[in-house]
Amino acid sequence: MPKKILPDMEAFQFHIKHKLESWGFRSINKIEIEKDFKRLGLFSRNPKEGREEGFIFTSKNGLKVIVWTTFVLQDEKARDEDLGWVLITNGDKVLYFAHPFRRTKNFAANLTRYAWIARWRVLNRPLCPDCNRLMDIARGKGIRARYWICTNRTKHKSTKATKISWDYGMPPKALAFLKAERAARRKYIVRRRKDGKLANVAPLIRSGMWTVSRKDNMV
Ligand SMILES: [Zn+2]
Repeated sequence: MPKKILPDMEAFQFHIKHKLESWGFRSINKIEIEKDFKRLGLFSRNPKEGREEGFIFTSKNGLKVIVWTTFVLQDEKARDEDLGWVLITNGDKVLYFAHPFRRTKNFAANLTRYAWIARWRVLNRPLCPDCNRLMDIARGKGIRARYWICTNRTKHKSTKATKISWDYGMPPKALAFLKAERAARRKYIVRRRKDGKLANVAPLIRSGMWTVSRKDNMV
């Protein structure tokens, strides 16, 4: 297994935060996390844990990208045992998540590359070729397999759902990167299940420190 190298303050500031902010991501602030906690009735099992830095990119079509960095600003260091995440969400629902990112020497580069690709996907959310409606994200057979779907059947000549590839229109350089990554990962399939299904609070739920007591308030 590659050696663990935790991102330090410099790596966090320059190789994660600045990069994400230059692409239009912003920090997820304490108030919005607290609001999510209240709305969902979340309670902590270990209130001593520091707050992990997260970033959000919001597109006009409603899809969001959320990046969890494992870095705790108040401690000026990364959490000792944790994984980075890149999610695509709509409301509280996680529609897609990239594989979890272990903190090795390429952590910042990998996390931000996947964040860029997820941002590209939400910015380029396709319109249905048969009826021009915005397409939705559907789950394929693999844990991370996705495709775009439009179920507006009555407006389709075929009267069937229209599907297009998840990578449709992806710039060649990004596509080449993804293909190489997928080929490499196929050799090292880590069966790691994501615990939470909630966007902003997912890392806390997956860490086992939090429980949702008000599922009725999920959006
Ligand atoms: Zn359609």
